[in-house]
Amino acid sequence: MTEENKCIFCGIVDGSMQSAKIYEDELVVCVLDIFPASKGHVLVIPKKHIAVSAQLDEALSAHLFNVGNKMSAVLFESLKAEGTNLLIANGAAAGQKVDHLVLHVIPRYKDDGVTISWKSEQIKEEELKNVYGQIVSKTQGSQEPVKEVEEIKEVVEEPKETTLEDALEEETFDDERMP
Ligand SMILES: [Zn+2]
Repeated sequence: MTEENKCIFCGIVDGSMQSAKIYEDELVVCVLDIFPASKGHVLVIPKKHIAVSAQLDEALSAHLFNVGNKMSAVLFESLKAEGTNLLIANGAAAGQKVDHLVLHVIPRYKDDGVTISWKSEQIKEEELKNVYGQIVSKTQGSQEPVKEVEEIKEVVEEPKETTLEDALEEETFDDERMP
């Protein structure tokens, strides 16, 4: 990649592009989005130029999500966010604008006007079987055993109740690592 058409996120990583950097380690940089969805929208950027999440190796994948989780906790504490969305867009159809993977950590507030939504409609049994067949043909041979359709249905119908407070109680945020 030449200097003129260098990726904007690579520019942030190497410091040639100005940014409000809030955290950095050997693998990722976290900056405030200058076009935020809401106040405090954080971008977790892998230092390596990677286009989509499927190209992440296991260690970077884990680290990216781990840092995203910590940023989420920071937003709850520092900005009194009432919720967060962690979001990755893979491909233009999913809303990806730059060819460099980022993990968005979007703080949410009551009536913040942010919409991440879709219209859900019950799928017809025939169509479900079709989709199931297409996907399962690719997941067989993966490490995790594939659940049967009936089992999945049960899980969908009876979600386990976990409140945000329960989840946050488990938080073991390590302040030492944050600059
Ligand atoms: Zn890049």
